[in-house]
Amino acid sequence: MVTARAGADIPVAILVVEDRAEDRTALRAMLSSGDYELVEASSGPEALRKLLTCEFAVLLVDVMMPGMTGFELASIVRERERTASIPIIFMTGEGSDVELVYRGYRTGAVDYLIKPLVPEIVRAKVEVFVELCRHRRRTEQQAALLMQAERERNELRLVELRLASERHYRQLAEAVPDIIWTASADGQVDYLSQRWFQYTGLSLEQSASGWRAAMHPDDVPLVDRAWEESVRSGTSFQMEARLRASDGSYRWHLARAVIERDASAGVTSWLGTLTDIEDQKRIEGVLAEFKGTLDAVLDAVLIFHPHTLDMQYVNRGASLLTGRSQSELLALRPFELIVDFDEARLRELLAPLHAGSQGVVSTEMRWRRKDDRDIPVDASFQIVLIDGTRLVCIARDVTARKLAELERAQLYDEAVAAVRVRDEFLSVASHELRTPLTSLQLQLEILRRPRKPTQPPLSAEAVKAKVDAVSRQATRLSHLVNELLDVSRIDEGTLELEFARVDLARVARDVVGRLAGDAERVGSVVRLTVGESVVGRWDALRLEQVLSNLLSNALKFGAGKPVEVTVERKSALAVMTIRDQGIGIAPGDIERIFERFERAAPTRRYGGLGLGLYIVRQIVEAHGGQVRAESVPGLGSTFTVELPLGQPATQENACGLDAR
Ligand code: ADP
Repeated sequence: MVTARAGADIPVAILVVEDRAEDRTALRAMLSSGDYELVEASSGPEALRKLLTCEFAVLLVDVMMPGMTGFELASIVRERERTASIPIIFMTGEGSDVELVYRGYRTGAVDYLIKPLVPEIVRAKVEVFVELCRHRRRTEQQAALLMQAERERNELRLVELRLASERHYRQLAEAVPDIIWTASADGQVDYLSQRWFQYTGLSLEQSASGWRAAMHPDDVPLVDRAWEESVRSGTSFQMEARLRASDGSYRWHLARAVIERDASAGVTSWLGTLTDIEDQKRIEGVLAEFKGTLDAVLDAVLIFHPHTLDMQYVNRGASLLTGRSQSELLALRPFELIVDFDEARLRELLAPLHAGSQGVVSTEMRWRRKDDRDIPVDASFQIVLIDGTRLVCIARDVTARKLAELERAQLYDEAVAAVRVRDEFLSVASHELRTPLTSLQLQLEILRRPRKPTQPPLSAEAVKAKVDAVSRQATRLSHLVNELLDVSRIDEGTLELEFARVDLARVARDVVGRLAGDAERVGSVVRLTVGESVVGRWDALRLEQVLSNLLSNALKFGAGKPVEVTVERKSALAVMTIRDQGIGIAPGDIERIFERFERAAPTRRYGGLGLGLYIVRQIVEAHGGQVRAESVPGLGSTFTVELPLGQPATQENACGLDAR
């Protein structure tokens, strides 16, 4: 068959299992072909052994064999996974029972050959299976080849990706001013950036031993030991060493390396840098003799390169001020410490130094500490000559000064406010005190003045009216003086309360009765509503003072309209309200009017020291109660006093009222 020949390159074997030697010879003659290998077995067990070592395209099995019959062999072949799918052709004698044939099919035969065997038929049947086997193998081979090709393509893609990322990495490495190097997991340096070759002037071959190639011989043992230790323990590496430049001079470098790990945290490689720290070292050397002094000052001292702005020296004060270690600070550039500064802004600030137009630049700024706290500092920048041109920054923490300034400003504001209040009060008080005094003097003057002979003597009513007026002004004066005395007692903490059993309804009746004359004078009607007696333990005189102040205000600001006073009991509280329909109070003033000297109505028209409500609140709170005002401007105000019926919880209040 053409196709069979075309695929003859794929070796195929067939197994003949036949106990009779002459039949085997006959079959050998029939099936001798270069296309496949013929393997013979004379018994079932031998066939099974051969099946273990070789793969067959088809089995030709004699049914009738002594020992293991062909059927028994077939069923074992079918049971084994490796051989289960090998086609089996049974060979049987002529005139065999049909039952035998069916049994053969049941045990997995695919075909039958009847003896005596006809060579063409045997060959044709065998060829079919040989070709089938070849076809299968070819397909398998192709699939394997395809898979292999796919795998190779993937690997290629991976390599490309890796190369691209490495290229990227290298480009990055070439872009930084430091020398960048990498090493394999075992510590062998396998890459050095271009900067290395520029600096050392060494070739690639000369650099075969990595950065040791240019290291000062004295430094080699120490660095080697540290590097080996890092590689062994897998910890970061940091060492200082001198590296030879192309001109033969040595410069100090800081060698650092960190580990790169794969997903399973195994070390895959090392990434390292070599940073030139020669300038820093030199400055440190130059400053060594001043180090003690510089570290003793609490100011922060930073020395940095005037052009690159690389930090070259920092003192201990800088560490204290910024909360960063000296090595952390050396890795920063000064503007990174300053709040709201970037490189451009710092360069702009320092420009006058470079231009020579200013010898020192001093400014207030804020520095950011490591703990993210901002601190105010006074910083001055200056160019100095320390082993070349350097920029020195001296910064002082001015937090304490700022706080003191703030405090001073606050104190000043408070003092100014206090002086203003006092001045206002003095002018109000003198006016308030003079008014009744003037009126009093006037009335007395009239009474005292000798009457002209032409004038009729004063009638008894007229004298009484004058004396009443004198008495009213005297009461007014004594009220004002008492208010002042009360306030000074509150301030000194010497205003005392005397607690006794008091009926608030009775207090209200007394006060309303006492102020009836005042009410009449302003044309107001005072309506008092008291239910049952409201008894508690209070200071009766002080509560009279409370109601008297509130009712006087209601009459004063009540626009001559009715005023209602109610006293009632609400669960554990005694509640007293004084409601007027007068000018009212603007919402913004409601809280303020309870403070000392605070007034909200026009002074000229209404007068008053601005102390009444302050005293009211102090007394009420000393009783463990509270007072509040509600008002609609133009429609009137309601003042509500709430007092606990029992003894007040606090015997002494914060304002120093002594409760007894
Ligand atoms: P004064 O003795 O000056 O009246 P107060 O402390 O008793 O001082 O009152 C402070 C301010 O509160 C008053 O100047 C006034 O502006 C306002 N006020 C008090 N009571 C009333 C009220 N019933 N109606 C309107 N305004 C009031």
